[in-house]
Amino acid sequence: MSKLYRESAEKFIKFVNSSPSPYHGVEECKKLLREQNFIELRETSPWKIEQGGKYYVTKNHSSIMAFAVGGNFTPGNGFSIVGAHTDSPCFKVKPISNINKHGYLQVGVECYGGGIWNTWFDRDLTVAGRVILKENGKMKHKLVHIKRPILRIPHLAIHLQRDINDKFSPNLENHTIPILATEVAKQLQHTTGDSSSEKSSEITCKANAHQPALISLLCEEMLCKAEDIVDFELFLADTQPAAIGGVLSEFIFSPRLDNLVNAYASIQGLIMSLEESFATDPNVRIAVLYDNEEVGSQSAQGACSKWTELVLRRISPNSQEDATCFERSLAKSFLVSADQAHACHPNYAEKHEINLRPALHKGPVLKYNAKQRYATTAVTASVIRIVAEKYGIPLQEFAVKNDSPCGSTIGPILSAKLGISTVDIGGPQLSMHSIREMCCTSSIHQCTQLYKNFFVEFPAIQKSMEEM
Ligand SMILES: [Zn+2]
Repeated sequence: MSKLYRESAEKFIKFVNSSPSPYHGVEECKKLLREQNFIELRETSPWKIEQGGKYYVTKNHSSIMAFAVGGNFTPGNGFSIVGAHTDSPCFKVKPISNINKHGYLQVGVECYGGGIWNTWFDRDLTVAGRVILKENGKMKHKLVHIKRPILRIPHLAIHLQRDINDKFSPNLENHTIPILATEVAKQLQHTTGDSSSEKSSEITCKANAHQPALISLLCEEMLCKAEDIVDFELFLADTQPAAIGGVLSEFIFSPRLDNLVNAYASIQGLIMSLEESFATDPNVRIAVLYDNEEVGSQSAQGACSKWTELVLRRISPNSQEDATCFERSLAKSFLVSADQAHACHPNYAEKHEINLRPALHKGPVLKYNAKQRYATTAVTASVIRIVAEKYGIPLQEFAVKNDSPCGSTIGPILSAKLGISTVDIGGPQLSMHSIREMCCTSSIHQCTQLYKNFFVEFPAIQKSMEEM
């Protein structure tokens, strides 16, 4: 069994190391899907959806919906959906980021999401994201990931802030500006006649809003000219790759576990499910990954968007003969909202209610909240419990203490928007929203198996739901 855990964990680590931004994450998913002959659909073109067909459609290059139409699907049948998100808290380069202070060349950044920002200090950072280039008068979207440490947010020495171990609360505007270079090194390059830096200092256009050295590095990487850069969305990322850790090699130490664990497991679960009962499945199997969950999901590509409904309508359209296909489809559908959960921390165990302390290795965590911050109900949890029991996958439960704040995710948003039965679940992890998080190797295998078998089993379970 542990060999299975190890193999799944290693594949996941590869995925996470290649996904430093939501754009890269979606690109990696596309690669996995294309290997399985999924066909790319464009929102702007008409679609011809066929039984047994496998498709995907993206939004903003940062959200993706992959779907496989069961061999017995007809409009009016259900959608079996696993949903997750592609984004994680990080710093994002500001639209004008050029900052020169006290001999340092710095890059202005904005906070994206609710990160544990002090974990970004003293890390070897880089940038990754997408650049909009103009090519022959047309716009082009290009991914970029600089794979060496080019940025750093240094701590202030303890000698100059003796209370740092009592409290460390950096000002998020003033104290988190990463350093890219020094004036001294830049001038030295000039006097030694390094022609590339000569060129970079003369850069004009939109690129002028940013450090010339950063722009010239981007140009080198993308083989383009500075004047071809129209705009970009660049995120800071740690250069340290994810790794298997612990003396017994049972942990994954990694950035972005929330929520690339579930992004990966839902796509892999969908792919693996196609080997079983797909030819006779009356449902459409869907893995959907959204951007912007960490900032409230309110965007064209976020879970609050009309996009989900519009795509689902195109899969199960109403017709003149039957004006309620889509509505009946939704009533027969189910969403597994897959997002990471808080494992109980041994040094802060009092933060968890005594009966609700998820542990590493003990399986995916069903998330409950009476105030509907999670969408799980007795019925939706039962669907997952039935699948998990049949395949020997352990499950755990979580609800916050009454005196503690509660997170939320795409589950409550989509269940409210679509009126669809939803369960909230995710792998247990520690250090959520740190630059480097921690989970267990077994989690990848367990989540993948759970989502795979949900796709296989749900149509039969749905029948018993209907008869309830
Ligand atoms: Zn999350």
